[in-house]
Amino acid sequence: MINGRKWYTTGGRDASFLLVMARTSDDPLSGATLFVVNRHAPGVTYLRDIPVMAEPLLAHREGELSFDGVRVGPQDVLGGEGWGFALAQQRLVPARLTHCMRWLGLADRALQLSREHLNRRVSFGKRLGEHQLVQLKLAEGAMAVHAGDLMTLRCAWMLEQGLDHQEVKVWSSMAKTQVAQALCKVLDDAIQTHGGLGYSDDVPFARWYRYARAARIADGPDEVHLITIARALLKGRLQLLT
Ligand SMILES: Cc1cc2nc3c(=O)[nH]c(=O)nc-3n(C[C@H](O)[C@H](O)[C@H](O)COP(=O)(O)OP(=O)(O)OC[C@H]3O[C@@H](n4cnc5c(N)ncnc54)[C@H](O)[C@@H]3O)c2cc1C
Repeated sequence: MINGRKWYTTGGRDASFLLVMARTSDDPLSGATLFVVNRHAPGVTYLRDIPVMAEPLLAHREGELSFDGVRVGPQDVLGGEGWGFALAQQRLVPARLTHCMRWLGLADRALQLSREHLNRRVSFGKRLGEHQLVQLKLAEGAMAVHAGDLMTLRCAWMLEQGLDHQEVKVWSSMAKTQVAQALCKVLDDAIQTHGGLGYSDDVPFARWYRYARAARIADGPDEVHLITIARALLKGRLQLLT
């Protein structure tokens, strides 16, 4: 029987079924089990859409659900009892890369839109794109996006080679953190270099930024991924150069 409350269940309102990670023992490594639960099973209640910083860019909302005496049996277990953490990691590694691809596309689009504006708008006697402080932002943004693109590509290549998700995990942490930070930086800079226009919703950057800010928190905050990367380095498990 599952009892509990879960907030931030992305897309939970419209889903037909839910993947529920529940504690089945106190073992720190094998104490979690994944269950497939019918979204409309007795005891599953969709409490609300959580109001968040951004209006939804995609169709789904962030949901809060409660589970009150939801009956599950062996047929509902995904994998096996105690496999929860391992299966979650297996899913999260490639899932992070799909986030990265969407976020890279958004960052690239923001840079392209900025390029048009900065080549046109004149301030203090020259086009904005000719001011070195503006160029610094553009160059840093371009490098951050390119680095994120290469990290994403390398991580995807590792998966393609059939490497175990445990070996690839740290590389997906690196790509996810790099791309999330790059996206937030590019959008923040786009708002800044567009001035008052950037802060308005006449251009998409403010709306995109509100959406993008979640990237540094969802699927593990920056800090937790940085810990993963640092630990791998300390253990001599990071072969950085190809
Ligand atoms: C838009 C969105 C969608 C989400 N969708 C889902 C979903 O579908 N399913 C789901 O299960 N969850 C979902 N989440 C939840 C998300 O995974 C968590 O919010 C995230 O992992 C951070 O956990 P927390 O909120 O408990 O933060 P906490 O663990 O309370 O951490 C708060 C802050 O403390 C800092 N911090 C935490 N740990 C450390 C550390 N070890 N060292 C230094 N600093 C630290 C970080 O700055 C962190 O942001 C979603 C979240 C968001 C924002």
